[in-house]
Amino acid sequence: MFCSILAGQTSADFVLRTPEVSAFLDVRPLFRGHVLVVPREHVVTIGEIAPAQIAPLFGAVSRIARAIEAGLGAHGSFVAINNTVSQSVPHLHVHVVPRHKGDGLRGFFWPRAKYESDEQRLDYAARIANALE
Ligand SMILES: [Zn+2]
Repeated sequence: MFCSILAGQTSADFVLRTPEVSAFLDVRPLFRGHVLVVPREHVVTIGEIAPAQIAPLFGAVSRIARAIEAGLGAHGSFVAINNTVSQSVPHLHVHVVPRHKGDGLRGFFWPRAKYESDEQRLDYAARIANALE
């Protein structure tokens, strides 16, 4: 599925594209502005990534984490990787989730937000992309 997105065969709301990494909105966000950062090379888990790809991947994660605060006004972020267990798509992806104080994210029973419209979703993508340094 993510290889299909990276190949342009499946649409996604991209916020960052580099030769090594792409980042786009999660279609079922924990909170609006939830981004997935994905290496373009197909690997399933963090344990399989080539050492040379780690810096590009986490460099992008760092940039997205800053952009979520600057672009969306988040107080912070939650960064996570599911490897195999609870991994819904078998292509390595790093979740970068906007956090606000008192947002209700605790434990493992997490809320799921919906975008109210395509326009709203695109606006979140644009605000993050525009805030990238
Ligand atoms: Zn893949």
